[in-house]
Parts: sequence; C-alpha cells; structure tokens
Amino acid sequence: MTELLYLKDSYIKEFAAEIIDDLGDSVILDKTAFYPGGGGQPNDEGWLLLDEKRLDVKKVEKREDLVLHFVNKDAGTNISGKKVKGLIDWDKRYTYMKYHTAIHLLDALLRKNFGKAFLTGGQIFLEKARVDVDYPDLNKTMMPEIESMVNNEIKKGREVVVRFLSKEEAEKIPDLARTKPGQELLKKLETVRVVEIVGLDMQMDGGTHVKNINEIGGIRITNFENKGSHNKRIEFALV
Ligand SMILES: [Zn+2]
Repeated sequence: MTELLYLKDSYIKEFAAEIIDDLGDSVILDKTAFYPGGGGQPNDEGWLLLDEKRLDVKKVEKREDLVLHFVNKDAGTNISGKKVKGLIDWDKRYTYMKYHTAIHLLDALLRKNFGKAFLTGGQIFLEKARVDVDYPDLNKTMMPEIESMVNNEIKKGREVVVRFLSKEEAEKIPDLARTKPGQELLKKLETVRVVEIVGLDMQMDGGTHVKNINEIGGIRITNFENKGSHNKRIEFALV
C-alpha cells in the first residue's frame, strides 16, 4: 500500500520514501506526495533522487492502493528496497491546484446564482481549464458577468479546508458527490475526504487544492461553447 501524503497536505513539495517494488519501467513507493491524476487533474511530474542519480518522473498512476511512478531507469537493475527522496515539479502542481480550486469556486457560484446549473465535468491543463455545465440558459453574453462573479469572490479570501468525514457524517450533507460515479463511490467509502471552501461549498474530492481562494489570483474566461441544449463548455485561464 502507498500512503497518499497529498490527501492531508497539498503543499508537500519533497518527501523521503522507500521503494517497495520495482516493476522495471516504474517503481512503487511506501508513501508519496505525487498526485496520480484523476478528477480532471493531471498527474504530477517531478524527480526521484537515489544515490547519485536523479530519475525523471513524467507519469504517475494509481492502481488500487498502490501508486506507480514511471521512471527512466535502467530496467536491468532492481532498485527495490532503496531509499529515495521525491521532488514534485511545484510550478506545475501549484498551477493545477489553483485551477482545481477555481473549478470548485465556479461550480459553487453557478449553483448559488443560477440555481439549477450543474457542473458535469472538468479538465485541467497547464494553460487553461474547462468545465462542462448542464444549464440550458447559459450563453455567451453571460460570460463577463460570471467572470466578475468569480473574481469578486476570490478577493474575499475564503479559506479552503480539507476534512475527513465518517460515512454517517457524509450522508447528512446534501450534494456532497455531484456526479454519478462520485455518488456510487460515496456509497462504498468508510471515510470521505471533503474539500470545503468555507462558507460557500463542500464536496467530496480527491484532488489537491490551495489553502485560500485568494491564491488563485484571478481568472479570465477565454471561450464559451454551446455543445448541446444541456451541455455548455466554459474555458478559462488564470491571470
Ligand atoms: Zn474537485
């Protein structure tokens, strides 16, 4: 099993770990701060330092309760049992964190201000993020208003808190899981990790987030696409 350090603290940039298995093109660590990807957030990149060597980590994958770190090492040498230091490519990760929290913020504000406007998906990139929204009335002329809504909220500097709830506590909170797969997952979990934008939004989430929404800085909506009567796509960038 790999202990997932990023779930409790999204700000860990380096950590010490042990290689518990060497699969040739990837290694499994006993603990990791590398985000393995999921929920629209890309996997982290970075490096593993061992002995005198620095191995590039470009791809990270979660398989059941193990995290595989794909590295450019000599496949002939088994490095299982070695101690390593993991370094996260922080510029990339911090950008993903800002985008991820911005998506939650946008989701919360759309619900609060427009009622039945539901986010059905999202994808984060380095230069932009996009969200799909189920809200038939959403149109291009509303984008400046939505952009200001988000930017004004960012200035309020709300804290973002990660909490672990028991199944019983989680079941009392409405809308904790917003997508069908999320709702299915919620039924199976004994402990539920929730990310709260204090005073505004709370949802089940496995990603990494900033501690305060003011770290997002600001956003600019760069594109709106009408993909169907119930599917509208908004793209935005950090400014
Ligand atoms: Zn999320």
